[in-house]
Amino acid sequence: MTDPSHGAATDVGRRETNQDYFIVQPPLYAVADGMGGHRAGDVASRTAVEVISEKIRDQHEALAEAVREANRAVHDKAGSDPKLRDMGTTMTAVILQDGRAQLVHVGDSRAYLFRAGELERLTEDHSVVGRMVREGRISAEEADQHPQRSVLEKALGVEAELDVDSHTVGTEPGDRILLCSDGLTNVLADEEIQAILADEPNPEKAAKRLVGEAIKGGANDNVTTVVVNLPGEPVPATARPLKKRRKGRVIAAAVLVAVLALLVGGRAVLVAPWWVGEDRGNVVIFKGVEGSFAGVKFVRVVERSEVEVATLPEAVADDIKEGIPAEDRMDAEQIVRNFKRQFGDSA
Ligand code: MN
Repeated sequence: MTDPSHGAATDVGRRETNQDYFIVQPPLYAVADGMGGHRAGDVASRTAVEVISEKIRDQHEALAEAVREANRAVHDKAGSDPKLRDMGTTMTAVILQDGRAQLVHVGDSRAYLFRAGELERLTEDHSVVGRMVREGRISAEEADQHPQRSVLEKALGVEAELDVDSHTVGTEPGDRILLCSDGLTNVLADEEIQAILADEPNPEKAAKRLVGEAIKGGANDNVTTVVVNLPGEPVPATARPLKKRRKGRVIAAAVLVAVLALLVGGRAVLVAPWWVGEDRGNVVIFKGVEGSFAGVKFVRVVERSEVEVATLPEAVADDIKEGIPAEDRMDAEQIVRNFKRQFGDSA
């Protein structure tokens, strides 16, 4: 059996540094996109790919366990240096062997399968808008256009323990796998990616051309691609083209969840990364983590209360839905305690 052939490309885009990393170490391939102020995002993604690369090469560990170890390594580093606090990274990793693709994934980088001329997404985005898609509140096309699409719900290195998506899909001879950071998919629609892969069989040229098109398309983020061609004759294309994405579609305000409304509302979150808001009907404490570029890259619920927003007086509920900024965690906890005291029965 011949080994798969592969290609990879990365470009800094309009940022100062490139915090994307990739692994091309057959049968292991991965893409990581770091986040965190200053250079912390770079440390996070680099540490993660180093740990995974080594664990798979030397210990032949299961991929999910290697990713969990990378999580602990990044988390420990973040705890050891105030400059690295809250750093994290996405991780989309795949092992391609024995007719299978084993995927382990966290964050909003993506894996795609290209077969018979058609592109199929293999991963779900762990982002706030990704959840809205899974809940049927917006379409995948709307999510790809959403101004807050890069706000993550989950990232490697942020928490001590990480719950990763892990699944296996069967592969066919001639299949192609694409891994990419969000710098690609923020600019190119799935049908554009599909068209480029259909037109360029060489994996190295395809990887470069995808990055080049994203840069031409105005990518302001780092852009990274890994393209792997599995050995064998590809299944002939029988594809009907994907339906064209409607450009510039305005997303109805009604679909915005409270946390997004707050983020869209301005830079309050950057100034006050702690706030009290609503998540799935309950009063919760949120924390935002600053991304490597302007804006919040990651948002998480750090504490969930039993207080149901629907049981609160309307004016209070409105404030919570909009988000109440807090000085720090203690301040946020105090705000929640006050709600419990004032509206005790609902707590
Ligand atoms: Mn990115």
